[in-house]
Amino acid sequence: MPQSLGNLFILAAPSGAGKSSLIKALLQNHDATEIHNNEMQVSVSHTTRAPRPGEIDGVHYHFVSREVFQQLITQDEFFEWAEVFGNYYGTSKVVIEQTLRKGIDVFLDIDWQGARQVKAQIPDTATIFVAPPSREELMRRLTERGQDTPEVIQDRMNKAVSEISHYHEFDYIVVNDDFDAALAELDAIVSSRRLRKEKQVMRHKSLFENLLASD
Ligand code: 5GP
Repeated sequence: MPQSLGNLFILAAPSGAGKSSLIKALLQNHDATEIHNNEMQVSVSHTTRAPRPGEIDGVHYHFVSREVFQQLITQDEFFEWAEVFGNYYGTSKVVIEQTLRKGIDVFLDIDWQGARQVKAQIPDTATIFVAPPSREELMRRLTERGQDTPEVIQDRMNKAVSEISHYHEFDYIVVNDDFDAALAELDAIVSSRRLRKEKQVMRHKSLFENLLASD
């Protein structure tokens, strides 16, 4: 992919780390109405899993059958895809490329397998891992709804631990103990990526031409 003004971010986390709330708050801080504005956007993945109550097709995911998903793989439509706990998930190539080219930052809410694939294709991607503050707190957050059997909770815990075991593969780690502090850290990562010389040179091309113009 050619060098673009937009930055690519990956946020990975076990369920219970508060990743979705952090992304939502980050976008709100940047005046995004829904999941995008002209500054940053969250990529909407395709998945073969069934929608949960309240999830909207095209907003939270593009919900597709396994057949359609396989077809999209064959047509090379995915930037990355992976099987996560029995369902397929994938990120569309075209949308990412077009959005970055427009100078809009893109956030991918994907798992460690997807993060590996994206990093291999675009080494410049900022990969961020969001961790819960303790095992006890993770357990508390995973049991919060209070209606699940011990087996379901144990299954959730096992999946979380499996995702956490890949934390060292990421560029940044944010521990979500205090929500506002974690949000500020996430914002700091975004700001620092935007201020890198490579991006600033593109953004302020005419400024530097002007500053360096001979009288
Ligand atoms: P959930 O089904 O709870 O929404 O998501 C399950 C896991 O799949 C999460 O870790 C989420 O980040 C990951 N995921 C969601 N979309 C994608 C995607 O497009 N690609 C990959 N590799 N993982 C995804």
